[in-house]
Amino acid sequence: SREVRLVARPSGLPAHSDFKIEELVVPDPGPGQILVRNDWMSVDPAMRGRMRDVPSYVPPFRLDEPMEGGAVGTVVESRADDLAVGDQVLHRLGWRDYAVLDGKHALRVDTRRAPASAYLGVLGMPGLTAYVGLKEIAGVREGDVVFISGAAGAVGLVAARVALHLGAATVIGSAGGPEKAGRLIREFGYDRAIDYKAGPISRSLRGAAPEGIDVYFDNVGGDHLQAALSSLRIGGRVALCGAISQYNEEKPAPGPTNLLQAVRMRLTLRGFIVMDHADLRDEWVDLASGWLEDGSLTSTQTVVEGLAHSVDALLGLLGGANVGKMLVRLNPD
Ligand code: NDP
Repeated sequence: SREVRLVARPSGLPAHSDFKIEELVVPDPGPGQILVRNDWMSVDPAMRGRMRDVPSYVPPFRLDEPMEGGAVGTVVESRADDLAVGDQVLHRLGWRDYAVLDGKHALRVDTRRAPASAYLGVLGMPGLTAYVGLKEIAGVREGDVVFISGAAGAVGLVAARVALHLGAATVIGSAGGPEKAGRLIREFGYDRAIDYKAGPISRSLRGAAPEGIDVYFDNVGGDHLQAALSSLRIGGRVALCGAISQYNEEKPAPGPTNLLQAVRMRLTLRGFIVMDHADLRDEWVDLASGWLEDGSLTSTQTVVEGLAHSVDALLGLLGGANVGKMLVRLNPD
């Protein structure tokens, strides 16, 4: 079995030399534990944050130890009462072929509703993030003009569907490059799309929303947040979800210089962390699996094959190689 370890803390964009794949013997599960063969693992922007040695809402990765992250796999040995060999489970020990963990830290997934990998994407943490951010944090209501950055990513694609469900009149998305921007409209339910690489985002947003916006779902931060602040109408709301434009910066650029807009326009800016909203998980899975069934939401994924290429998947994610959820399919045998 193999596992991916962080061996050096990256400065700027991570490099292959910051990681090492280690071979090891899989331990036997102890009482209450299961052995899982990982089939899929999630690659997330937040993993870049955990490579820094700073306190956050999740502890940093430790050097010379396996990285962690969402994974789904098949139980191959069980000493846990309520899990059986063959069950598909969601858990936190990705970045390795086989995981040994307490049964209580694994959640059985229902593969009759959706393929197991969907529980890392639309039905999982990214999907719930979109739902929480727009429903609970920004409070999207009938008639809102909603702007979503990172629009072609795992959270962003679901966010468009959620915004429409909550009654948004117009949903605008921004993504990098003309191809992604085109797909936002053709395939993913966005009404208007911005290629943020084609010109200054503030000008593009004014062009896409001459009437202004009511809600901004921020995945990107930096210039995107600055532009949104200038376009928000009175009483506008911002869900601060992430700031991926800054994750590789050693010294993040100074924040928006136009925060006075929040005063003038009586805005609400509110950050959130999805794991504080686990109580909405079942509601979300019910809603989203209905949408997968009726075809109004698709489980869009970008798949990288094999643990040996998992660092490529991470670098790809940070560089925009994905549309929808970035996943690694693991082939341990
Ligand atoms: P994505 O699937 O959206 O992948 C990341 C995307 O970010 C890339 O595809 C790329 O798309 C874009 N990107 C990279 N660099 C830049 C840049 N400099 N400027 C603009 N876009 C950039 O990831 P997720 O959907 O998993 O996550 C989206 C955001 O949500 C992240 O900020 C993440 O940290 C945050 N998040 C927050 C959570 C919370 O609880 N608050 C939970 C989950 C995610 P492109 O080609 O368009 O540039």
